[in-house]
Parts: sequence; structure tokens; C-alpha cells
Amino acid sequence: MGQEIFAAYESEVRSYCRSWPVIFDRAKGSTLWDTDGNAYLDFFAGAGALNYGHNHPIVKAALNEYLAEDRIIHSLDMFTVAKEEFLRRFHDVILAPNGLEYKVQFPGPTGTNAVEAALKIARKVTGRETIVSFTNAFHGMTLGALSVTGNSMKRGGAGVPLVHTVPMPYDNYLDGSTPDFMWFERLLTDSGSGLEDPAAVIVETVQGEGGVNVARGQWLRALEELCRAHGILLVIDDVQMGCGRTGEFFSFTEYGLDPDVVCVSKSISGSGLPMALTLIKPEHDEWAPGEHNGTFRGNNPAFVTGTAALDLWTDDTLQRTTAAHATQMCTALSAISDDNPALKAEVRGRGAIWGLDVGSGDLAAKICRQAFSNELLVETAGPDGNVVKLLPALTIETDELEAGLDRLTDAVQRVCG
Ligand code: PMP
Repeated sequence: MGQEIFAAYESEVRSYCRSWPVIFDRAKGSTLWDTDGNAYLDFFAGAGALNYGHNHPIVKAALNEYLAEDRIIHSLDMFTVAKEEFLRRFHDVILAPNGLEYKVQFPGPTGTNAVEAALKIARKVTGRETIVSFTNAFHGMTLGALSVTGNSMKRGGAGVPLVHTVPMPYDNYLDGSTPDFMWFERLLTDSGSGLEDPAAVIVETVQGEGGVNVARGQWLRALEELCRAHGILLVIDDVQMGCGRTGEFFSFTEYGLDPDVVCVSKSISGSGLPMALTLIKPEHDEWAPGEHNGTFRGNNPAFVTGTAALDLWTDDTLQRTTAAHATQMCTALSAISDDNPALKAEVRGRGAIWGLDVGSGDLAAKICRQAFSNELLVETAGPDGNVVKLLPALTIETDELEAGLDRLTDAVQRVCG
């Protein structure tokens, strides 16, 4: 089997396959196999869509059983047993134990859909237009989500002006040289600033695509206070950092935050099947029936695997392993940084997401290419692709994580040595 068919028939927009030019076929846990039988360790986890690994046995069994019985696959937003079971289980296992009260909206089944719905409902509820976003944010590729995304290459793809949004500095953007929120607060209180009262602020607690930039809890809490003081809705985009990536199921509960709207997608189905949620505080659920819709809101196989995956959240096993893996990754990356002083690398991360900022897109790409030769899948992030981003499944075995970190260490040494 050759790769000619892709070059001949698939659009030039394809990208990950350019970094990993093999044909993948089977995958289990944290290993993918290509058609030549080579086994690759996965430090990418479907860009965060495979937090429980490939084909997790609990998830796969539920899907197999559902399909074998000719249960309903597609249902728009009709009532189905699969959706009922998901809603009940999500409430009982995730929302109620965290003391969270949200109405669950099923938008189209991607992160960018969850963000579009969040921006629309915030504008409807407040009657305001402006959305405040942050430097280096990433929220998706549709026009609304793109308008709150920082990356200039991605924004350029829009081909039209991206309007009604204002970017503000993310935590540590100004290296601590300016007190946090001084600029934002001044604009909000000065009637001459030119800033319209914002409908919402949209924020990631850790910017994944933006280069693994970790906001401090105190910064996020101060942001929430500022929002409350000015009648601005707080939207947390937990598309990549949710579903346990930072430790707890949501990335914001650790800091006691109480967002008005939360965007969830990627690993919510537990299987890689497309699914997304926009969680809305009940008092803000002002949608008229069908005011926001989408053909693929009722992806029942995703509800089934999503419900099964919630079994993994009935005890704290995942959280405990994530804390241990955090230490393992931080230690290995710090050793890489210490052993290669010329790199001047910075190590950043939280939970099961870590980044090695090598300050150059070329260098980070070389390291990832060498890692691929070492049969490790790892990708870059950051405005110039300058960060090697580690995003293993939460379920990765400790020895697999160690083996992957060894392959990465070797890759850096080969590139830099
Ligand atoms: N928000 C965040 C924080 C993301 O990381 C992503 C995807 N990388 C999205 C939104 C968009 O999700 P999707 O690609 O499913 O539209």
C-alpha cells in the first residue's frame, strides 16, 4: 500500500500526515501501528481527544454491544436512550459531585461548535457584542471561534475581517512587568477607552495550542472577579484541558472557579468519536428552540462511549496517576533542559500536558521529526511551533511514559549533540 493516493486525491490542507508520513492502521492504548508493523508510542493522544487511549476496553465493549443490537445511530436532537443515559451519568458522576449546575447543550460535535454556541448565548444573554479573548488563545476554525483565536496564520485563513472581539494579555504575557489586569481594568472603567462593555471573556486555563502556557489559579480567580464586577460572562474553553487533562475532570474546579459557560469536546466521548457540549448556567439558558442547531448533535455511539468512559471517574485512580505522570514528565523535561544548556529551553505544564519551549519552530520540528524516527509521536505548539508538546493519554502505563521520555531525550541529543 502506498501513499500516492493521498497526494493525488486529498487536499493540500492535510497536515499531521506530513509530520508522520506512514499509513496507520491499528491502535490500542498508547500504541499505534503502521501498515509495515512499526509500533509508535503516542504522546499526542488525538490532540487531546484520546485521554483514555485508543480503544479502551470499557469504551469499546459498550460500543460493540450497542452496534450489535441495531440501536439508533443518528437522531439529531430527538430523545434517545443513549442520550438519556449520558445526561444522567454526566450529572451523577461529574456535575453533582463537583457542586456544578449546568444545562447541557449538544451543539455540532466539535470543539469549535461548542465555542460558537458559547459566544452566541453570551451575546444573547447580555445584549452586548464584544468578546474578550487572550493572546495566543486557540478556540477553533469557524469564524466566531477564529475571531477569538490569536494565531495570525490561522486568522488569515478566514479571508474576512474577524470582528467584535478584543485580545488581552494572557497570564505572564508581559513577564510580570505590568500588574495583571491593569490594562483590562483601565479599559473597562475609562469611558474614553473605546472598549465596548464586553458580553464575555473566553479563556483556556492552560493554552494548549498556544504553547502550553499555564495560567496561575490566582490570575484566573482575579479574572473571574473582574468579570463579575462588570457583568461579563466567564466562558472557560475546556475543550483540550477538560476530561481530566489537568487532573480533575474540569480544569477549573481546582481553583474554585464558577464559569457561566463551559465548552467541552475532544475526550468527552471517551473514544475519539465526535461529540461536544456547551454547558450553560441554568439562568443563562435563554435559547429559543432550534435557535442554534446542527445535523450531527445526536451522535448516539458517542453518547454510549461517553457514558461508559464516565466509569473511569467513579474513583480517583485517573487523578492519582496524572499527578504521578506530571512529576515524571516534568523531571524528564527538566533533565533535557539541564543537559542541553545551549537550548535555553523552558519547561511548562500542568497535569498530563507538558511543553519544552526551545524558542525556535525549526528546532522543535527537528526534535519532533527525530522523535518520529525513534517511533514516538509528539507534536509542536506555540505561535511559531516553538514548543514540543507532550500530550500522552491519561491511561498511559508508567513504563510506556518512561520509554517515550527516553525516546524524546535521545531525539533532543541527536538534534542538539
Ligand atoms: N478549543 C480548544 C482549547 C482547542 O484546543 C481546540 C482544538 N485544538 C478547539 C477549541 C477546537 O476544537 P475542534 O478542532 O474540535 O473544532
